[in-house]
Amino acid sequence: MRGNVSPKIEISEAIVTEDQFRQLLTECNGLEVLLLDRTEVSPETLSKVLPQLTSLRQLKLGSTVPADAFPHIAGLGNLEVLNLPDARCGDQELALLSALPRLKLLRLHSPALTDAGLHALPQFPSLRYLHLINTPITDAGLTSVAQCEHLESFYLDGGNCTDEGLSALLKERPKLHFHWNDLHLEDDPNKHPHD
Ligand SMILES: [Zn+2]
Repeated sequence: MRGNVSPKIEISEAIVTEDQFRQLLTECNGLEVLLLDRTEVSPETLSKVLPQLTSLRQLKLGSTVPADAFPHIAGLGNLEVLNLPDARCGDQELALLSALPRLKLLRLHSPALTDAGLHALPQFPSLRYLHLINTPITDAGLTSVAQCEHLESFYLDGGNCTDEGLSALLKERPKLHFHWNDLHLEDDPNKHPHD
């Protein structure tokens, strides 16, 4: 965690402790990339540190991110990439993120996000890549995805959508690079092989 000149911190194996995370407050002015797979950080500390990381362009927090962290994340106006594989992002929290003017990639696993929350998606000004993992959305939510003007890529893992709903999305947005549980649909005009 040392070095206030380094614009990037990436830690995948080791658990980042509460104390280490707090060091970001004093040592990481100008931090642009923070990618942490495992953290043991209280919601209070998250709420204290996140608002200070105003230069962040990329943020990954692999451990559980509580709902009350989202107002702080939504204040990081330079964020372009946000990767939260274990978030408690409800409908209101997603709406907050639509204030991020540069956010182009959002990867989110949250059991708390519903179709109603996806209504916020067309309001995201720069969103090009969306990956939703095990969010309990249905075909109704896909209509909001279809309305995301700038969206180039949509990966969906899990959820409660039907084959019909997904096919309808692709008919409406035939250029969308769409993966469902890592695969292309049979009738996808953009179908291409993957390893
Ligand atoms: Zn593909």
